[in-house]
Amino acid sequence: MIDSHTHSEYSADSVMPLDLLIQTAVSLKLDYLAVTDHLDRDFLFCENPKPVPQLDIAAYAKAVSAAKIKYAGQIKLAFGIECGYSRQTEKMCRDELSRYEYDIDLIINSVHTVENQDVYVESYYDGKTKDEIFLPYIRAIRESLDIDMPYDIVGHIGYIARKAPFQFKYADYDGLFDDIFRKMIEKGKCLEINSHVKTAETDFFPGADLIKRYRELGGELITFSSDAHQPTRVAEKYSLVAKTAKELGFNFFACYLKHKPEMYPIVF
Ligand SMILES: [Zn+2]
Ligand SMILES: [Zn+2]
Repeated sequence: MIDSHTHSEYSADSVMPLDLLIQTAVSLKLDYLAVTDHLDRDFLFCENPKPVPQLDIAAYAKAVSAAKIKYAGQIKLAFGIECGYSRQTEKMCRDELSRYEYDIDLIINSVHTVENQDVYVESYYDGKTKDEIFLPYIRAIRESLDIDMPYDIVGHIGYIARKAPFQFKYADYDGLFDDIFRKMIEKGKCLEINSHVKTAETDFFPGADLIKRYRELGGELITFSSDAHQPTRVAEKYSLVAKTAKELGFNFFACYLKHKPEMYPIVF
């Protein structure tokens, strides 16, 4: 088993000690664990802000690097960053992350804010139609693919449906999704299957209809992500995601070390 996306106490929205996260993964017999704490510089520009404490990358990098030594031989541990995309922060994030380029194993490129709005705030959806919610979000994902940053994985496509009062379906925006998937394939970026879903009508993001289309277009790089912020959710729904991925024609999960994918056979 593997898990490519988890959050420790270095993320503002998690209190899970790094040691507890890693020990949980070891006890679950994971072969590979990526810790991917939030670089949320996009929230600095939000117009509907809830103040988000910012990541101290130096302290985080130091802690993961010590943990790599401490847990050597028990698990393959990767130092990752989940970088929240916004147009304003592209350069800021690139400059910051370039100072840690020798430490970083993987970068997840995620959209959490759309046109300077935090889409996790419920009032964001007031009075909006389905198109008014989904079109700007899908455009933001497409735009994020072209950032000048060495990201590896495209995070949780469909995240907005955690709160949106509509289903996020391939059929409704097929041309736009095809454009996103074709660009990802062309650039060699990995599609994340993220099981941190509580409210939407799917067990993971993106849903099976989108993953199926990515495969049809020639997409081969996928990975499993629990996006756990608590020990009980590490590797959550791994078997379900693995089974679905197999059924859709994938045989491997990509796990990144120094930005290089290692291919792990999908077993469940
Ligand atoms: Zn995220
Ligand atoms: Zn996350």
